Amino acid sequence: MRNLRYKEFGFDYTGEGPSDRYRKFENITDLEKWIRKKYPYAIYSSTAFYEIPEEMEGWLGSELVFDLDVKDMPLRTCSCKRGDVCEICLNDAKDYVYIILDSLKELGLKDIHVIFSGRGYHIRVVDEEILNLESFERAEILKFVIGCEPIDLEEEIKGYAYYKTFKRTILEFLKRLDYSKKFGRYKRYISYIKKILSIDDLNSMRRSKIFRELINDVVKVNREILDSKVTVDLKRLIRLPSSLHSKVGLICKEVKNLYKFNPIYDARPKVLR
Ligand SMILES: [Zn+2]
Repeated sequence: MRNLRYKEFGFDYTGEGPSDRYRKFENITDLEKWIRKKYPYAIYSSTAFYEIPEEMEGWLGSELVFDLDVKDMPLRTCSCKRGDVCEICLNDAKDYVYIILDSLKELGLKDIHVIFSGRGYHIRVVDEEILNLESFERAEILKFVIGCEPIDLEEEIKGYAYYKTFKRTILEFLKRLDYSKKFGRYKRYISYIKKILSIDDLNSMRRSKIFRELINDVVKVNREILDSKVTVDLKRLIRLPSSLHSKVGLICKEVKNLYKFNPIYDARPKVLR
């Protein structure tokens, strides 16, 4: 079922998005022939598998996808403006990818692939048990993997896994504040977070006003890290690994060793190296 024959393909010939959709290929040779004939700017394939991809009919399931577009990442350790990316933030985003990967592994998922999208990262999960999840279930997983919901401060904190994810995102938040020291109202958290990091049980801080404000601000930032529309959309087209991101000129490709991966060097087309 995971064969490319069950995927919908889309092509962009103008740089404005995939205008030619609903394409189906029986095998990789046919896809290659099409690409050589049409020379598209960019190539996309569906996260969904269909019996009839050319009509988007007979839905068989969809990959679970998380999209981290670095140009929209809220807090960064570089001086990029929103909308831009540089070598520093492309590398910096990997810290969030590690958090997501660890959270997914805590859920028992194994068939997880990290794809450099050209301007960020796609985390694509193809374990059998997630393929038929509904949108609302995917939205719940998204909250879990990146800390999009305040930890419950009124009750005993249940479920160690989410607590751990959340604590790691607080650390990322602090790291970014510390680097740039220009985040306006967030600045007041710097010394406070350093103090609470020495305390193991965040629950004991629940009566403190600044702690509640911090939690709410971390949640707000975390909600912007991933594009939730991509995760909940069961019929999304996303960039095909091995194709070129035409806006930045880097190759969308699977990352086998995230630690060693250098986006600017490793995803540059060979002719430019
Ligand atoms: Zn940057």
